[in-house]
Amino acid sequence: MKIYNTMTKRKEDFVPIEEGKVRMYVCGPTVYNLIHIGNARPMIVFDTVRRYMEYKGYEVNFVSNFTDVDDKIIKKALEEGVDSSEISTRYIEECKKDMAGMNVKPATTHPLATKEIPGMLDMIQTLIDKGNAYVAKDGTVYFSVSSFKDYGKLSHKKLDEMQSSRSLLVTGEDQKKDPMDFVLWKPKKDGEPYWESPWCDGRPGWHIECSVMSKRYLGDEIDIHAGGEDLVFPHHENEIAQSEACNGKTFSKYWMHNAFLNIDNKKMSKSLGNFFTVRDIAERYDLQVLRFFMLSAHYRSGLNFADTLMEAAKSSLERIVNAAQNLRHLSTEGLSGEMTAAEKELLEESKKYTAQFEAAMEDDFNTADAISAVFDLVRFANTNCREGVTCEFAAGLYKTLATLTDILGIILEKKEELLDDEVEVMIQARTDARKAKDFAKADEIRNKLLDMGIVLEDTREGVKWKRA
Ligand code: AMP
Ligand code: ZN
Repeated sequence: MKIYNTMTKRKEDFVPIEEGKVRMYVCGPTVYNLIHIGNARPMIVFDTVRRYMEYKGYEVNFVSNFTDVDDKIIKKALEEGVDSSEISTRYIEECKKDMAGMNVKPATTHPLATKEIPGMLDMIQTLIDKGNAYVAKDGTVYFSVSSFKDYGKLSHKKLDEMQSSRSLLVTGEDQKKDPMDFVLWKPKKDGEPYWESPWCDGRPGWHIECSVMSKRYLGDEIDIHAGGEDLVFPHHENEIAQSEACNGKTFSKYWMHNAFLNIDNKKMSKSLGNFFTVRDIAERYDLQVLRFFMLSAHYRSGLNFADTLMEAAKSSLERIVNAAQNLRHLSTEGLSGEMTAAEKELLEESKKYTAQFEAAMEDDFNTADAISAVFDLVRFANTNCREGVTCEFAAGLYKTLATLTDILGIILEKKEELLDDEVEVMIQARTDARKAKDFAKADEIRNKLLDMGIVLEDTREGVKWKRA
């Protein structure tokens, strides 16, 4: 298996630190709003990497954080007049719903920055003790980039060039010894969440969170660290500086970065305002279509979002699902008895599509080519599997198709729909829970229904519901 490593700028053979195991960390979103489809790209891409590794027999420990303390969360909380934890809790829940809709598996662990403060205090103290960090007059703790000789190795930047291009300190940074130094801990401001520390009451900088969560859940050395390409510098560069200075070991063997999802050939981002949320897309398409669209390009190529491409993804997906339906039908309604010799030969021949699929995935997860292999298999199945074949033959082809699409996270068989009566029973249970003031239970039932595509509306005449 070859992976393009941002650190070496080459495709390298994947050799895990521990045989048969993969330790993988993916930087997750800052939760102050619904996620947009740009944020969905790393989720879908690295979930597919994980699925392929699992298919190959690796045990994958997959950690992805939620950044739940941040300026943007605090700003939103002030706007709404609520606690910032209310904002982050709300958008973590919403994010998890979007992930489920896109068939992104939950991580082995989804740590929250606010629950990891003791680990951050420890790591910052170690960095101070080792001479890699210093405390300014107001209690801010900075990492000293010049104390870490490899600074710049991931982004391939030279420290002296960065220093000269950023030689002027901006307001508020005048306590720094070097303009490139970055914050590990900062003092609280009025109305902000804060924690006690030996340096001042305050909160952590963004970069230290990931170093600490990765260390806690995966260890000092990990196999893969991943995220969008905008994270290479400064976020991942700073993570390397913190982790390697603290632990004295190579932080991650492989660094993977997805390219941007663009719109009108510009990066889709909240600050530019040119974005669609995953929820916007869910109103128009099954989120499987979004997943399929994302995987139709290689993850290191820019991808432009356009309606025409979504429509193309929709009809491509339909072709696969229709072929699967036909195979499923024939695997119960076909002829009973053993496969014919000709069928055995065809089934053997169909293995070449699995080989083609794997070859594409082994080459730095080329999902675009892997999808071509799936289409070749679909064509083969449509040609060779018609009325009159044995159940066993159809089932054999279905199994191959289902295995390959499952690696891509594409669902072939729609979940069984809830019957109207069952919906009514659940709504009644929710109403009873609300009467008993068990709002947590009521919310849980509502979310469960939502997951199954049932939307509730509380009206004066009672609860109304519809299928999404
Ligand atoms: P953020 O919440 O901004 O920290 O982003 C969470 C993840 O989404 C990071 O890995 C980003 O690199 C990634 N990301 C943000 N915008 C885009 C985009 N337009 N295309 C691809 N990835 C993105
Ligand atoms: Zn991170």
